[in-house]
Amino acid sequence: MRIVVKIGTSTLTHSTGCLNIRRIEKLCEVISDLKNAGHEPILVSSGAIGMGVGKLSLKSRPQDIPTKQAAAAVGQCELMYTYDKLFSEYRHTVAQILLTEHDVNDPQRRGNFHNTLSRLLELDCIPIINENDTVATEELGIGDNDTLAAIVSVNISADLLVLMSDIDGLYTADPHKNADAELIKSVKEITPEIIALAGGKGSELGTGGMATKIRAAQIATSSGTDMIITNGDNPSALYDIVDGVEIGTRFWSTK
Ligand code: GLU
Repeated sequence: MRIVVKIGTSTLTHSTGCLNIRRIEKLCEVISDLKNAGHEPILVSSGAIGMGVGKLSLKSRPQDIPTKQAAAAVGQCELMYTYDKLFSEYRHTVAQILLTEHDVNDPQRRGNFHNTLSRLLELDCIPIINENDTVATEELGIGDNDTLAAIVSVNISADLLVLMSDIDGLYTADPHKNADAELIKSVKEITPEIIALAGGKGSELGTGGMATKIRAAQIATSSGTDMIITNGDNPSALYDIVDGVEIGTRFWSTK
């Protein structure tokens, strides 16, 4: 199974912006094992800005663009260093791809990206993709990695896109505010009611939220890729997901 796994900042880091070591170690172990089993995992990883905040000991996520870009420049190194180190323990080779809006909108650049990604998979690498935040930020570029992960999934004809987040899936109401909120396990059609269920922004350090996830679902499912939103606090759920166990919220491809 060709599977794109998007990992949100809240999954990778503590609220301090520092690395959640136990979580990322487990994640790399599970993804390595899936690769060993013959699957083709591709990561879309957030966390550059969040980890830069931690490494630079900034008090909170910066609001101005130059500091955000500086934090991303520092954090992206830290992120790839960590992935390289952990995946190497399982003898897997990682490859960094940083994209901007132009790379996904321009047909020629999109083609180049597709060719590189395909070749990396043939070479048995684990591609790790992020937006190139040092030149594009959420104000200027693709803006969030939910959307980026959906664009990547379509580009490489993934079988499945998994968004690992700090929430179990899409609920009938905001579960933080409403105790009666129920998890929606399956979405066959993205209706205006489903779109209305998505509130605003997610965590303090990240960029996404349910709205960007629903937008990602629209992009993925209309081009033949199923999408699952699941809680990133349990990376082993990826085993169940490839085995077809019902987890989180699944958006079914309409193609
Ligand atoms: N590209 C951003 C980062 O690595 C994250 C964007 C997002 O969280 O969606 O910090």
